[in-house]
Amino acid sequence: MDRQQEFVLRTLEERDIRFVRLWFTDVLGTLKSVSVAPAELEAAFDEGIGFDGSAIEGFARVFESDMVAMPDPTTFQVFPFEGGVSGESARMFCDILLPDGGPSWADPRHVLRRMLSKAADKGFTFYTHPEIEFFLLENGPLDGAVPVPVDTGGYFEHTTHAVARDFRRQAVLALERIGISVEFSHHEVAPGQQEIDLRYADALTTADNIMTFRHVVKEVALSTGVQATFMPKPFTDQPGSGMHTHLSLFEGERNAFHDAGDPMKLSKVAKSFIAGLLMHAREYTAVTNQWVNSYKRLFPQALPDRITESPAYVCWGHLNRSALVRVPAYGKPNSARVEVRSLDSATNPYLAFAVLLGAGLKGIEEGYELPPGAEDDVWSLTAAERKAMGYEALPENLAEAIDVMAGSELIAEVLGEHVFDFFLRNKRAEWEQYRREVTPYERQRYLSL
Ligand code: GLN
Ligand code: MG
Ligand code: MG
Ligand code: MG
Repeated sequence: MDRQQEFVLRTLEERDIRFVRLWFTDVLGTLKSVSVAPAELEAAFDEGIGFDGSAIEGFARVFESDMVAMPDPTTFQVFPFEGGVSGESARMFCDILLPDGGPSWADPRHVLRRMLSKAADKGFTFYTHPEIEFFLLENGPLDGAVPVPVDTGGYFEHTTHAVARDFRRQAVLALERIGISVEFSHHEVAPGQQEIDLRYADALTTADNIMTFRHVVKEVALSTGVQATFMPKPFTDQPGSGMHTHLSLFEGERNAFHDAGDPMKLSKVAKSFIAGLLMHAREYTAVTNQWVNSYKRLFPQALPDRITESPAYVCWGHLNRSALVRVPAYGKPNSARVEVRSLDSATNPYLAFAVLLGAGLKGIEEGYELPPGAEDDVWSLTAAERKAMGYEALPENLAEAIDVMAGSELIAEVLGEHVFDFFLRNKRAEWEQYRREVTPYERQRYLSL
């Protein structure tokens, strides 16, 4: 037994913790959990916990369904606020293994680990920092009715929106208590919409933190008597919930994106990385924006009093908030980074970070040239102007996104054959189901024909 494992067992005993939740994530980004008694944990560290992989989205074909969840003691965390009558609980993330002890090709954590070790072979550590947007609702109707946001607040608004303010304070405190550092939190543009930004960390930790974040935010919302949703676009006439993510590569202690001698302070590594993000953007969009609903957000929409700020075109810029990739204004050398603005809050963070890293590394390997930046508002150009400037559009819907992904060697390589095939099959089925649906919009519009 190693020291981390001993620490876990000792902590459980000292704090009299009765339940340890073992967490993992399916291919679609849903959190899975199995509780074990502390007495079973020593064996679980040795042998893992067996489960039926065929019952989990994307994990296994029925004839090879035995899988093993192996707890990762470095992710051990006590959850002090879920006490109630049953005392404190704790959780650990798991790696998923096949019965022969090898990593499961279906485990999103493994997909990301594989890309991270590819980056490590080149001397890079990959850091990410997400800005997570979501809605707080008074209710969560599951019958398709339009939900009611908790307030009428807007961007950075402070006064009188007591529910949201109180909620953010409680959520941030809860996150800090379990070791997840929050940088900013504020009211977002739409009524009921909130944003909480996590401090940057290595991408595996960030992905674990995002899964934990979604759980904690939903729990805190429920305990405040409201509902939280990470649905990408719950309201027709309001902006959607993005998860802009800031990316950087470090070589040891040094930010590899920074170059003091460059007019933009961007290194060659950074420029090729961005070029890779752009070159393969259409291919990875099905992963960063995986739901039918994701594409209701992913285009500029003029609302009565504003324009939604989600990207629709493949380009980069400094100030330009319509661009897919934004390079924030120059700060300290170690804070050099790029912001990808397409991801939404309902993506699988492990797979999303893996494909972004894959695209960026490809740019570095192949020495892609960075095209000129777009400082114009790309939304306001005509289609012909955009074409002349070489700005491709992101996929307009899930069907187009999966078609582009299906032809991508890069995404197949990053996800591995199993996840790639499962993902495409699953998403095609989702699209087919949506496609047959006759919507209220159509009846309103066509019934009088
Ligand atoms: N909600 C917007 C989006 O969908 C982002 C708004 C912002 O943070 N500027 O991406
Ligand atoms: Mg923000
Ligand atoms: Mg925001
Ligand atoms: Mg942002």
